[in-house]
Amino acid sequence: MGKKTIFLGAHTSISGGLYKAIEEGEKLGCTTIQIFTKSSRSWHASKLKEENILKFKETQKKSNIKTIIAHTSYLINIGSPNKDTEKKSIDALKLELERCQDLEIPYLVLHPGAHLKSGEEKCLEQISKNLDFVLKNASGKTMILLETTAGQGTNVGYKFEHLKEIRDKAKEKKKIGTCLDTCHIFSAGYDISTPTEYKKVIQTFDKIIGLKNLKAIHLNDSKTNLNSRKDQHENIGKGYIPLKTFSLIMNDKRLKKIPKILETPVKKVDEHKVEIDLLKDMVK
Ligand SMILES: [Zn+2]
Ligand SMILES: [Zn+2]
Repeated sequence: MGKKTIFLGAHTSISGGLYKAIEEGEKLGCTTIQIFTKSSRSWHASKLKEENILKFKETQKKSNIKTIIAHTSYLINIGSPNKDTEKKSIDALKLELERCQDLEIPYLVLHPGAHLKSGEEKCLEQISKNLDFVLKNASGKTMILLETTAGQGTNVGYKFEHLKEIRDKAKEKKKIGTCLDTCHIFSAGYDISTPTEYKKVIQTFDKIIGLKNLKAIHLNDSKTNLNSRKDQHENIGKGYIPLKTFSLIMNDKRLKKIPKILETPVKKVDEHKVEIDLLKDMVK
C-alpha cells in the first residue's frame, strides 16, 4: 500500500477563518480533515460570505487535503422528545447542511440523538423522519453520516442495529451514511482489542450496516474500558485500545479509501503531528 494513498487527518480549527483549518491540516501532513463549519456551541450562524467560500475552496485546491468532513454542533438532538429542542435541532441541521453544500463538503457527521428517557424505539423513528425532512429538499450532494456512539446517557447509536434501523426507515437513504468512531464502539462494547475480535466486529458492521455505507472513521483511543459506555477520547496508544488495533485499521484494505480522522485531546493542534506520524508509520 503506497504511503501516498493514506487518507489520514485530524479535526482542525477554523478560528481565524474557515480556510485556516485547511492550512493547519497541511502543516500536520493530513490528506483529509474534519471541521466545524461554525461554532460547535451555538445554534445559529450568519450566512457564509461568498469571499470566504471562495478562499476556502481555493485553499483546498492548492493543498493536499482530498476530503473535508464537517461535524455538526453538539447541541443538535433531532431525536429529542422536547418539541422545542427538536425544532431548533432540525433548523440547525438544515443550516449546517446548507453550509456544507456552499463549501462543497461531501460529508456532515451527526450524533444520531438522545431519547432522554422517552424510549429508544420512538427516538430512532423520530430521527429517521427528521432526517428525511431535512434531506428531502436539500439541493447539494452532501451526505449526513450517522456516527456510532458510546451510548453515554440516553444516546442511541451504540448498536450498529440502531444506525441500520434509522437508515432503513428513511426514504433519503442515498444521502445517509455512517461514521465509525473507534473510541465509541469500544466503549459501547464492541471488542476490537485483538485481531480476531477486530475481524469479527468489522464483519458484524458489514453484515448489519454494510461497509459500502461507511464513509468516515474517527481514530480515537479510549480513556475508559470496553463496555464502559463513556465517551472519553484518549491519545493513540495511551488508552485501552491496543496500538495493534490501529495498525490493523491502517492496513485494512477494505478501509483504505475511507478518510480517517483523529479527534484525540490536544492542547495545541500541532500535537496531532505525533499521532499522524505514528499512524502513517504503521502502514506496511
Ligand atoms: Zn462525533
Ligand atoms: Zn467521533
